[in-house]
Amino acid sequence: MTDAPRVLVIEDEQEIRRFLRVSLRAHDFDVSESETGRDGLLAASSQPPDVVLLDLGLPDISGFEVIAELRGWSRVPIIVLSARGQEADKIAALDAGADDYLTKPFGIGELLARLRVALRHAARGDAGDERALFTLGELLVDQARRVVLVAGEEVRMTPTEYRLLTTLIKHAGKVLTHRQLLKEVWGPDCTHETHYLRVYVNQLRQKLGSSLKEALITEPGVGYRLQPST
Ligand code: CA
Repeated sequence: MTDAPRVLVIEDEQEIRRFLRVSLRAHDFDVSESETGRDGLLAASSQPPDVVLLDLGLPDISGFEVIAELRGWSRVPIIVLSARGQEADKIAALDAGADDYLTKPFGIGELLARLRVALRHAARGDAGDERALFTLGELLVDQARRVVLVAGEEVRMTPTEYRLLTTLIKHAGKVLTHRQLLKEVWGPDCTHETHYLRVYVNQLRQKLGSSLKEALITEPGVGYRLQPST
């Protein structure tokens, strides 16, 4: 039990807590629970978890406040649990520093997949060198040499295309909001120009073959996610 990944669930709905507790324990996770934001923060500081599952609508402080406070001293992956249709909340949570979200109701398969990605991401940490060479099916990106190959053939990229691609690679597995991508690739003055993104994402999908086309996922109304090969 000692090396089981520790999941902290911060959620006031008893039914969802029970579902998470039962299903995660059945898959050998070590689960602890908090019903309020403040209790969750306390739990996260006294026994640091490996991943946090966070409801946004909590009875005391909001989930956004929990994210902001947690991010002041912790880089633990945070997966937000949010209701269908609340795209604005998801975006705000991601912008505040959450790593991912799950839309309620979700199945155990989806939950486990997200947890695996979050834990892998955390284990990799900031080791940028490891991502210097990125492969995805027939696509190979050598960031040290600034070379992009598809099935062994070099593909010419514009500086913006290359920057967008390497930004997606840097955050592979994580949902990036339109705002985060625009800020990182085009700069802080361009965070509303979502049509830039549509155009350039399209270009990447056209240029970089079927592996990227399948792995570069549109999160409707929110942003994009590059799904790393597992
Ligand atoms: Ca709630």
